[in-house]
Amino acid sequence: STHHHDGNPQKTFWEIEIEIPDQDKEYVGFATLPNQVHRKSVKKGFAFTLMVAGESGLGKSTLVNSLFLTDLYKDRKMLNAEERISQTVEITKHTVAIEEKGVKLKLTIVDTPGFGDAVNNTESWRAVVDYIDQQFEQYFRDESGLNRKNIQDNRVHCCLYFISPFGHGLRPMDVEFMKMLHEKVNIVPVLAKADSLTPLEVRKIKMKIREEIERFDINIYQFPECDSDDEEFKLQHQELKDSVPFTVIGSNVQVESQGRRFRGRQYPWGVVEVENPVHSDFLKLRNMLVRTHMQDLKDVTRETHYENYRAQCIQNMTRMVVKERKRRSEDKLTSSDDHIRLYSATERLIWEKDEELRRMQEVLERIQEQMHHGH
Ligand code: GDP
Repeated sequence: STHHHDGNPQKTFWEIEIEIPDQDKEYVGFATLPNQVHRKSVKKGFAFTLMVAGESGLGKSTLVNSLFLTDLYKDRKMLNAEERISQTVEITKHTVAIEEKGVKLKLTIVDTPGFGDAVNNTESWRAVVDYIDQQFEQYFRDESGLNRKNIQDNRVHCCLYFISPFGHGLRPMDVEFMKMLHEKVNIVPVLAKADSLTPLEVRKIKMKIREEIERFDINIYQFPECDSDDEEFKLQHQELKDSVPFTVIGSNVQVESQGRRFRGRQYPWGVVEVENPVHSDFLKLRNMLVRTHMQDLKDVTRETHYENYRAQCIQNMTRMVVKERKRRSEDKLTSSDDHIRLYSATERLIWEKDEELRRMQEVLERIQEQMHHGH
């Protein structure tokens, strides 16, 4: 049961007792995933790629760890300040296979360089944007290639963007970064280290951030609207919307208190629990990611973000092919003189261009054919 202490700001928030259902303690909960999709994908298992981004030190690795109950980062070596600076453009990828109640989930976490380490962050942002594009490009190549049955899908389905609890809302850096990403990936903003804020501060800062997201035209991931009159769904939907940015608390350790063991952070004045809904939105976020919205995050990635990329690619390729054809026909008219081709290097370049062009044309033809057959 929950007690409300709104009128009493003196009361520390972890004194509030709340019952957490048992299953929430032991399972991540993706065993319900089959309800979200067609049965045939159940056997193969599910794959999901989650990216974490934001300033370094905001608890990204700790949270990811808490989210999936596995020590993903136990092999990670800690870097000193100097090393960190030189490593700002490194992106790391971890994959874990988890199984719950016979349902398999292959989870890939993409950890991005922490911003704020280097004087100039443009490099690290570029690297993140490039990474997302590269996954799209690879998928596009595979999809329009010959090996379409065994495509490895490494596209990024969601990006948790960490916002500092110590700033007054979004900083220019946050705005800039999210705007660089919002056309490419589903951004879910989270408010890091929620244990450093009082409930009142949380409410204020959330409102401010939501207002700023709107004012700066940042397109974060939108929870799908439901047309039906399902009251319960509507309520859930509104609650999710009001939670943005989700407050999170991360911890890698188990704490024992009053005969219970849980993931938490122990302070001299009390204990904060990662999975206590009164302490943070951690459970709500995890539920959203793996129970209720994983499939939608994948759908939006495919139907919106990837489709945009693909359309852009096809347009560029078409333009290049047309331009090249035009140039060729003009060349033919002006120089019938073969002696101009003096250098083998030039010849090689022309040959390479030819090859590229030929490949592009092939891809374009295949795409047209696929469209024809209703793909
Ligand atoms: P990253 O650089 O964003 O990956 O941050 P880390 O996960 O390495 O965490 C940086 C520091 O913040 C560590 O000392 C963590 O123990 C601490 N930390 C992580 N999560 C929280 C949190 O929710 N609250 C508080 N107060 N500290 C946290």
